[in-house]
Amino acid sequence: TRSKTGLLLVVLPRFIHSGKGCSSLSTGGRCKTNRTSMLGQQADRVMALGEWEERWQQDRIGFHQPEVHKMLENNIDKVLNGRTGVCFFFPLCGKAVDMKWLADLGHSVVGVEISEKAIQQFFEENNMTYSEEPVPAIPGAKVYKNSEKNISLYQCNLFTFSSSIEGQFGAIWDRGSLVAINPGDREKYADLIISLMAKDCRYLLDTLLYNPDLYQGPPFFVPDEQVHSLFGSSCDIELLHSEDALTDKQRKWGLDKFTENVHLITPKSN
Ligand code: SAH
Repeated sequence: TRSKTGLLLVVLPRFIHSGKGCSSLSTGGRCKTNRTSMLGQQADRVMALGEWEERWQQDRIGFHQPEVHKMLENNIDKVLNGRTGVCFFFPLCGKAVDMKWLADLGHSVVGVEISEKAIQQFFEENNMTYSEEPVPAIPGAKVYKNSEKNISLYQCNLFTFSSSIEGQFGAIWDRGSLVAINPGDREKYADLIISLMAKDCRYLLDTLLYNPDLYQGPPFFVPDEQVHSLFGSSCDIELLHSEDALTDKQRKWGLDKFTENVHLITPKSN
């Protein structure tokens, strides 16, 4: 009995907390056991697209922020790296006001969002006239553009989007995106994002750390180890900032620890 207990005490915490012992989490089923232990009860959570659309219909959009996101504002110089007129990609864009902020600074923006209501609200709330047209390459999709045509929002499932639509991007702002897609889709998501990165792309990624057994998400918990296993083989990853982001909102979710991490991800120069 003593040796069994000893084994449990020694092996389990390592398995749960470090995620080590698995060289790559991005190899699908091979490391499922490890992923499951890292992500706790969230590993198999699935949110259907219809549930997101329902949230928009019912105005249950607590993730939306009326101000430009501090992490984008604080790190914009690192993202731009001296460049002007950069083309930004916003995966899972919602109606983020960050898109208007960047367009007003002379950049262009391409976003993808499943909710038509979100896209229409974005243009209406920012007093922009907009047009709407089908996207022949993506059945059922529509693209909405402001009159200056420097903001293009695609209404479709992100996983039907590709670099054949708008080419590759010079920057990506990922807030409420990697943390919002289903945890089981992360490898597919990382492959898509990497395929959308131009050689000089600077990808700003916002992740959230908390105990996934206490709250079901979204937003989901994304450990730093997984950021590295998803992007580390083709990109350099720098943790720019880590801060305690616990507020009453997360306390109501049942959490007493909640950390926001911001990573700068850039393609490895070969
Ligand atoms: N980035 C935005 C929105 C975050 S919430 C912000 O920071 O405010 C996630 C958004 O992604 C929701 O608006 C939801 O409707 C949308 N969404 C979720 N899964 C999607 C998918 N597979 N394809 C396109 N949009 C999706």
